[in-house]
Amino acid sequence: MTTALADRWRAARPPVAGVHLDSAACSRQSFAVIDAAAQHARHEAEVGGYVAAEAAAPVLEAGRTAVAALTGLDADDVLFTTGATDALDLLLGDWRGERTVACLPGEYGPNLAVLARHRFEVRRLPADSTGRLDVDAVAAFLDDDPPALVHLTMLGSHRGTVQPAGPLAAACRSAGIPLVVDAAQAFAHLDCATIGADAIYTSSRKWTAGPRGVGILAARPGLLSDEALAVLAHREVNLAAHVGLSLALGEHVAAGPELIHQRLVEVGAMTRSVLAGVAGWRVVERADEPSAITTLTPPDGADGRRLRERLIAEYRIVTTYAGVERAPDEMTTPALRVSPHVDVTADDLESLARALTEIGA
Ligand SMILES: *Cc1c(COP(=O)(O)O)cnc(C)c1O
Repeated sequence: MTTALADRWRAARPPVAGVHLDSAACSRQSFAVIDAAAQHARHEAEVGGYVAAEAAAPVLEAGRTAVAALTGLDADDVLFTTGATDALDLLLGDWRGERTVACLPGEYGPNLAVLARHRFEVRRLPADSTGRLDVDAVAAFLDDDPPALVHLTMLGSHRGTVQPAGPLAAACRSAGIPLVVDAAQAFAHLDCATIGADAIYTSSRKWTAGPRGVGILAARPGLLSDEALAVLAHREVNLAAHVGLSLALGEHVAAGPELIHQRLVEVGAMTRSVLAGVAGWRVVERADEPSAITTLTPPDGADGRRLRERLIAEYRIVTTYAGVERAPDEMTTPALRVSPHVDVTADDLESLARALTEIGA
């Protein structure tokens, strides 16, 4: 069943030049998504940008409906942004409450920068030694000195650890504190439909495999002010990219979000089993961590940045070098991130293992 999914996913895209193990950075778009965006640009040239926008309205509405199904929020409350960071920036810039927020120690570095720029005082949610939320301690933590807002990065950029978003949402609801979820890595990868968050945001280019430069913000009514929504309604946007994203969302829903999730869990386990202990690299995640993000810490003295470059130049294998700035309060060493999509094969992963061994030798 999952091989059929992998075959369809692969056949729907241009052939990959080498081995692509970098979906957490940017997945490969399908022919249909690329064509839809190009068609829209063409239509703009034919009939005018604003007339083409009206014609595209049903496609965009279908995209919002897909987001609603995937987040448990309402289609009317879905906005397209220029990315995940843009979504957070919009939310925080418009925040009318006290500027206190609780996050996990592994919070994404660029998010911490946005929080700081909006003058939020950041508190630490309780976590265990691997950085996972301590579900048993969270209710007391929120009760003790309640922050105005809780922000959760459900799956990090720097590590494949899946955070228990549902239990945190339940605790936030009991405490009457809004929960905002960064699902840049979780959306179209893990189940985000049953979290029960007040806002969920993500980017298009990662696991959804939509175009670059687009993102999604779904927020319960009232979280964004009418003034902010009015300003947003008049922002200039890349409609061709919104059309492409809507197509990608449709493809995701048609392929079966649960099937994709199950396959990505399988992919994560396979990646860790092939790469564990290769050439002195150490896998950070538990072998059965239910995500397709695997990170490896280098053997002593290895330069991860240079290694990533050599993997591309000499082996055509695309991965990410993740420096400690990705999660400055949690990471102590840089990591090589390996994030294949549903179509990865054991051969692909073995070629990475061979390359790591050869480069290490
Ligand atoms: C990539 C990423 C972001 C930023 O997404 P953009 O769309 O580039 O703004 C935010 N949070 C996490 C966890 C990410 O991985």
